[in-house]
Amino acid sequence: MRVSALTDVGMRRRNNQDSFGYQLADGRQAWERHGHMFVVADGMGAHAAGELASRLAVDLVQHHYGKCLQTEPVENLRRALIEANHEIHRRGQANIEFRNMGTTCSALALLPEGAVCAHVGDSRVYRVRGFEIEQLTFDHSLVWEMQAVGGIQTTTDDQLLTIPKNVITRSLGPNPHVAVDIEGPFSIKCGDRFLLCSDGLSGQLTDTEIGVLLQLLPIEEAARTMLDLANLRGGPDNITLIAVEASDSIIESPENQQETIQRPRKLRPIDPRFIIVSGIGLSASVMLGMLDQWLVALTMFVISCFVMIAGLMTRGSSSDSASVDSEIGQRGRGPYRRYVCHADAALVQRMADTIEAILQAARENQWLEAITTIEAMLPEASQAARENQLAEAIQRYSKITIEAMKRIRLSRAV
Ligand code: CA
Repeated sequence: MRVSALTDVGMRRRNNQDSFGYQLADGRQAWERHGHMFVVADGMGAHAAGELASRLAVDLVQHHYGKCLQTEPVENLRRALIEANHEIHRRGQANIEFRNMGTTCSALALLPEGAVCAHVGDSRVYRVRGFEIEQLTFDHSLVWEMQAVGGIQTTTDDQLLTIPKNVITRSLGPNPHVAVDIEGPFSIKCGDRFLLCSDGLSGQLTDTEIGVLLQLLPIEEAARTMLDLANLRGGPDNITLIAVEASDSIIESPENQQETIQRPRKLRPIDPRFIIVSGIGLSASVMLGMLDQWLVALTMFVISCFVMIAGLMTRGSSSDSASVDSEIGQRGRGPYRRYVCHADAALVQRMADTIEAILQAARENQWLEAITTIEAMLPEASQAARENQLAEAIQRYSKITIEAMKRIRLSRAV
């Protein structure tokens, strides 16, 4: 497993109201019991309230997920978010300074049965596999909810553009009860990359950009480039991300789950239709017996028995299924968005434009080191772009982004 987690205040805010945390399973037993768990939270509220809410969410979700003794990790994860909501709400009610504090919370558990998300708010979880990026979570934002209700189809729709993007419809804290979305399990393959992020990142980079960078760059470099690009495009909000690469074959699913996981399962009740039909059949056979219609009664009795056995068998096959996927069942409706993400000329141009804009800004602000760095590195990147070496161009622009941002940070700190 390779993990790169970063958080940054951004360019405009004074405090960072985002938080993140993760717990990696320590050994095979822990992996089978609760897997790896990652969580990102984006707090809101005046002054310290947002910071406290997101910190509480991350700490409490990890705490409750870790300590839960129930055997089913998906339910544990959901409970962990509900417990976190209770506590954040209680703290918000108890102190006027923290009244109505809230936070988004997106948690991802990588389990033997697959990847499962528990989610409230508009932070996001993505999976990148090959040339495809999928958003596994639904944004609980006004824009997404209105799109879901219907009528408004595209992001370019006039009506939609008038809706403020940062209005969220669900969060942990403000209310005593919260509905937690569970998405998954989604299969995991060696080489898959997962990303959890706050809207400070997803608001500044397109889904395809995120996909291409995660697919093309080593995970640490991809994480740093995404964060710096969000900053170089203005960094209006706090930026937080956890990038995870499934590099260990132990976590592959669902192929390996049959040997690795034996969770106690609840038996499903018999489908009531079987009970009704066989009940009617049995009563009828008794009545026919009383009327001395022995042959018909016996036939009826045998049919009723068969119906009951069929009911038991359907119940048995669903609970005995070797696939845990089908035991838990796919929950939620994710993935909600899916894009093919190739390194294309438009994307390269967009990165080039960002670098060009930052070079301008560096000149205006006399950030001399940043200017020297960009000017030294730019020709090779531009050449790769001109020669249509798109992957190489993106790798080079990514390096410029990281180096330029390092220098700019130093200049701003002076
Ligand atoms: Ca935010």
